[in-house]
Amino acid sequence: MSSQNILEVKHLQKAFGRHEVLKDINFEVKQGEIIGLLGKNGSGKTTMIKSILGLLQHSGEVYFEGKKLSIRDTYAMNRIGVLVDTAFFEDMTALDNLKILMMATPHRDNRHMKKDIMELLEFVGLEKNVKEKVKGFSFGMKQRLALAQALMNEPKLLILDEPFVGLDPLGIELVKEKLTELCRKKQASIIFSSHQLAEVEELSEDLIVIEDGHVKYFGTYEDLARQNKEYRIITDRPIPTKMLSELHAKCCEVYEKSENQLILSHGEKTLDLVLRYLQENGFTICEILREDRPLETLFA
Ligand code: ADP
Repeated sequence: MSSQNILEVKHLQKAFGRHEVLKDINFEVKQGEIIGLLGKNGSGKTTMIKSILGLLQHSGEVYFEGKKLSIRDTYAMNRIGVLVDTAFFEDMTALDNLKILMMATPHRDNRHMKKDIMELLEFVGLEKNVKEKVKGFSFGMKQRLALAQALMNEPKLLILDEPFVGLDPLGIELVKEKLTELCRKKQASIIFSSHQLAEVEELSEDLIVIEDGHVKYFGTYEDLARQNKEYRIITDRPIPTKMLSELHAKCCEVYEKSENQLILSHGEKTLDLVLRYLQENGFTICEILREDRPLETLFA
């Protein structure tokens, strides 16, 4: 384990009955890093988050600060701020909700509880709603209160499931700004799931794309955009299906667009190979066009 890795996820697997949602998830998070988690609806983002936190039984290993993470390790769990399926005492105020949680948190220093709560509520822009009952809160206000709960113990790692859902544009800006501030000032790390590419692009340095139970991509937004190009290859005559199968066997993502047009996806590494193969088989390449595929196709 590298010393600057705050989290390591190794061979994470989770099935519901015979439905294998996570087949083999592996990744690492460095200290101070913000990682956006993308994947189509139902790809397993929430399942992954809950498995990492030990809220779901799973196979595989999760290390936090170099030590195997267990939900029973209250010291470690206190250092992880979580926003997933947050429930509140709806008949109580925002202040009382935080107070109860603070009092129930093992090893927490509650000497300045009221001050801590006011700072947290101010941080998430709820300072004017301290004494209001949560049942009167909008969904967006509840999201912000959930974020305040997640931030309660000055976490070293934040794991947030769809933190921007239900927030208005100003709320989104506020939360983004605060999360960035937290990382800069306290060197906290953040993993957050989202189905909004714009939010992920703006906030995170690296992103993870989950597909078919695996990490399909882990890297920067720019690299992903670069890889996500399609090449349209126009040849002098139709390409037989047998040749397409042979190209598939060479890991080239090609399909026939029309009689003498091939589309090659993720072609940065395979374009040369495809062109050489066609020429060796007597084809003339009439034209090659490069087209950007919308990144949303990866997860929408
Ligand atoms: P995402 O967060 O990416 O939208 P989820 O992790 O919520 O995806 O779900 C992944 C898959 O696991 C879905 O097919 C979902 O129906 C299934 N799933 C999630 N939770 C359960 C559960 N408790 N029991 C059975 N299937 C579940």
